[in-house]
Amino acid sequence: MRVGMPRGLMFYKYYPFWQAYLDSLDVELVVSERTNKKILDLGLEAAENEFCLPLKVFYGHALSLKDKADALLIPRLVSVHKKEFTCPKMLGLPDLIHALEGRVPPVISPKIDVRKNTRGYYRELMGLGKRFDGKNRRIVSAILAGRRAQIEYEKKLIAGMTPPEALEGDTRETTKQELTIGLVGHSYNIYDSYITLDLIKRLRRAGAKVLVPENISPETIDAESRDLPKRLFWTYEKEIVGSAFHWMKSEAVSGVIYVLAFACGPDSFIQSVIEDKSRSLGNVPVMSLVIDEHSTEGGMITRLEAFIDMLKRRDHAACNASHG
Ligand code: SF4
Repeated sequence: MRVGMPRGLMFYKYYPFWQAYLDSLDVELVVSERTNKKILDLGLEAAENEFCLPLKVFYGHALSLKDKADALLIPRLVSVHKKEFTCPKMLGLPDLIHALEGRVPPVISPKIDVRKNTRGYYRELMGLGKRFDGKNRRIVSAILAGRRAQIEYEKKLIAGMTPPEALEGDTRETTKQELTIGLVGHSYNIYDSYITLDLIKRLRRAGAKVLVPENISPETIDAESRDLPKRLFWTYEKEIVGSAFHWMKSEAVSGVIYVLAFACGPDSFIQSVIEDKSRSLGNVPVMSLVIDEHSTEGGMITRLEAFIDMLKRRDHAACNASHG
């Protein structure tokens, strides 16, 4: 059996787990290509116009697997941390893709919900393994193999790699680093080089060292996000806020760039939280970059260049002031 995985939404978060789990059960995993014009066009044509861009991109990836897989693996992500939730779109994702019946392979959607405990999660993984003819002992080994692969992956990220470097072997150009920029946003936005018009590469070419949320430990993210008057119960948004707060408070970066998707409710809420913090601390400027299917290279380059120039001038002025 060939199981297809769309290279969108949670791909950069959990691919190593699924790859090792399925491999241990002798199931072939087929991943869609990196986002390209054809995939985006497929998604734009099939998805509702009001959907956020990442969802439209995901549609394109799912459709591109039509004749390449016997089934699509699209977990129903309800909660990946105790007492927290994911975006409601993740919850309904399998149903949305299932509604494309005839244009995509059948959807397999184990429910991931660890809001209260992990019992149901393991039950789902055992049930999923049985669909692939696994015996209990073999499925348990597959779960363990998946967890080991995920831990190894996360270690590489904490050591400073970006997910595309750790997963896809992307290489880093060596450039002169004149400043450090913290790049925040959902993983499916910031690591999709097609929809962000190669943002990470552009920043590096402009002399920036780029830090990403996956380089920060979950404990630090948790502690930093407690700065908010009310606890954030959206896991991935907490990661964004916690990373931005951490870099701003520790002054580990010269500036923060927040990439947000047009028509994303959680993103627009978080945007104001981060911008408020930047204003109250007054030390690290933030630039928000909204992406949608009409984002143009010209518009992005102009804004990036202006932001980077401003940061370099600030750093220069601060350096001169400290040397008297
Ligand atoms: S968090 Fe925003 S971008 Fe992500 S799936 Fe939900 S609405 Fe879309």
